[in-house]
Amino acid sequence: MKTSSPKRIAPRVLLVEDEESLVLTLSDRLEAEGYEVESRGDGESALVLASERVFDVAILDVMLPGMDGFAVCRELRQRGLSLPILMLTARSQVVDKVVGLRLGADDYLTKPFEMIELLARLEALLRRRLSGSAAPDMFTFGEVRADFRRAEVTRAGAPVPLSSMELRLLRYLVEHRGELLSRDRLLDEVWGYDATPVSRTVDVHVASLRSKVEPNPSHPVHIVTVHRLGYRFDG
Ligand code: CA
Repeated sequence: MKTSSPKRIAPRVLLVEDEESLVLTLSDRLEAEGYEVESRGDGESALVLASERVFDVAILDVMLPGMDGFAVCRELRQRGLSLPILMLTARSQVVDKVVGLRLGADDYLTKPFEMIELLARLEALLRRRLSGSAAPDMFTFGEVRADFRRAEVTRAGAPVPLSSMELRLLRYLVEHRGELLSRDRLLDEVWGYDATPVSRTVDVHVASLRSKVEPNPSHPVHIVTVHRLGYRFDG
C-alpha cells in the first residue's frame, strides 16, 4: 500500500548579492511568491551557508566584494553541489554570460531586469531540476560527501563504509530532502515491501546510518526524527 504522497515544500533560494536595496526587493517578492530566501552579501559567507544548508536554486551576482560571482559558481560546482545557478550580470558585461555558463551557471539575467522575468527563469530552472534525475550524483552535507555514482561516501575526507542498503537509504533521503518520510513509505520505496506490521527495520538502519554520518548521532542534525511520524533529511 502506498502511503503519504510527497509534501510540497517552499523552494529554498540562496541569494548572493551585495546591493542591499536589491536584496530587500528580491527577498520580499520571492517570499510573497512562496520561496524561502536566505541572502549573503559576499561570496565567502555564501559558500559557508551553502555547505550548511540545502538550497534548491541560487541567484548569484557577478559583482561582489572580494570573491566574485564566477569564483563562487566554480567553487560550488567543485564541491559537487548541483543546484541550478542563475547569474546576475551588468549590461556591460557581455562576456560574463559565456564565462558564467562555462563555469557551471545554468542561466543568466542582465541587470536591470523585470521581476517577472526573474521569476520565470527561476521557475524554469526548478522545473528542469525536478524533471531530471532527482538524485544528484554527488551530494555534500556537513563533513560528508556522497558520490552515488561511484558508491563512495567520505567524511572529512576519510572513507565511510556503508552497506548497500545504507547507501540506498541515504540516496533516497537525499532525493527527498526536506520531506517528511514515514517508515511505511521508506520500507515501501527503499526496501520494496509493505510495512504491515511496521517493523523496526527502518529504525535500525537509520540508527546505523546516523552513527556513520552524523556529527553527534545521539543528537542528529541531518537525519532527524519527526516525532511519531517518521524521518526527515535536512541536508
Ligand atoms: Ca553586486
